[in-house]
Amino acid sequence: MTGPRIPYGRQDINDDDVAAVSAVLRSDFLTQGPAVPEFESALAAYLNAKYVVACSNATAALHMACLALELGPGDRLWTSPITFVASANCGLYCGALVDFVDIDPITYNMSTTRLAEKLAVAEANGTLPKVVVPVHLSGEPCDMRTISELGKRYGFRIIEDASHAIGARYGNSKVGSCEYSDITVFSFHPVKIITTGEGGAAVTSDLALAEKLSLFRSHGITRDPKHMREANHDAWYYEQIFLGFNYRLTDLQAALGTSQLARLDSFVARRHVLASRYDSLLSGLPLILPRRDPKNYSALHLYIIRVPQQQGSVSRKLVIDKLSEQNIGVNVHYIPVHMQPYYRERGHSVSSFPAAENYYEEAITLPLFPLLTEAEQLRVVGALSEIFE
Ligand SMILES: *Cc1c(COP(=O)(O)O)cnc(C)c1O
Repeated sequence: MTGPRIPYGRQDINDDDVAAVSAVLRSDFLTQGPAVPEFESALAAYLNAKYVVACSNATAALHMACLALELGPGDRLWTSPITFVASANCGLYCGALVDFVDIDPITYNMSTTRLAEKLAVAEANGTLPKVVVPVHLSGEPCDMRTISELGKRYGFRIIEDASHAIGARYGNSKVGSCEYSDITVFSFHPVKIITTGEGGAAVTSDLALAEKLSLFRSHGITRDPKHMREANHDAWYYEQIFLGFNYRLTDLQAALGTSQLARLDSFVARRHVLASRYDSLLSGLPLILPRRDPKNYSALHLYIIRVPQQQGSVSRKLVIDKLSEQNIGVNVHYIPVHMQPYYRERGHSVSSFPAAENYYEEAITLPLFPLLTEAEQLRVVGALSEIFE
């Protein structure tokens, strides 16, 4: 049953997307033109968000978000160990100390029980975090209400890493409405839910944070007299008031983003159809299938199965090898960040977060993307069934 390679994720680009980018190519502005604010307004309207700052990628958005919240040397940032390294690295960029909170063994998101325990200890030791970064793994929202209550009680700020979760809903609110956080960050990398090639955004309800985010995006330079340290000299005058970066999105990318956004809901709906089909086709196999909380609506960026590792059971490695032999692109999301050599060399040790480490031994991400066909899905299921025969 082998056939052409099935990737674990890929973009869906149509003629409208191509036309939108071509139109910008022939326009006056390839960057710093009108397409970026248009994309930001469209995103704000979709998310019910007040302020959207589009930028070069989600890693940049996380960095700007930490800076806007004034995370600095000596401060602490906590995140989940089961995430892409960028959710933790943003703390290191600011000179902060990074630590992790173990995951919930059912949702694979940061455990609020472990978070509450760790906060109580940190309060006693004087080591409370300044920023906590919950990650909506695979697009399934974290328990934001509890995290936000803990934030108020212990005085930390919250950045949601929603790189997997555009199009998701937490209860009745869209992920990105920032009802329970200071800033929410999205990624528009091609494997994510919608794409701009490379791209990201930081979203907030707080005007002062939004202004800082825009300043960090573009060198810390302002042309707005109300932010200037000195009197405004003239129309040509600008001031650098922070050490910022060039984290801008181009107009080409923004036009692609606006065009993709029009299809976001249909992309996520298609992911749900495919995921439900995996749920039923795989239900007879000795696998742990992903759970979705019926109170929320997942963006379903990833479909993660677990191969329970007990004495005599089929090994996760065998499953990955067999699927790869059949030309099926599988992945593991993620290697726990504290187990990465860079983090281990800086004092993090293996065996610190047992739920995350158990999960890591068993997890496999199956192919899931809007253009995945039902025939391709049957190939994936067929290959898995053969392994467990
Ligand atoms: C993809 C991803 C990022 C980084 O996104 P980029 O846009 O590639 O910088 C950060 N966090 C998580 C959880 C991601 O999946």
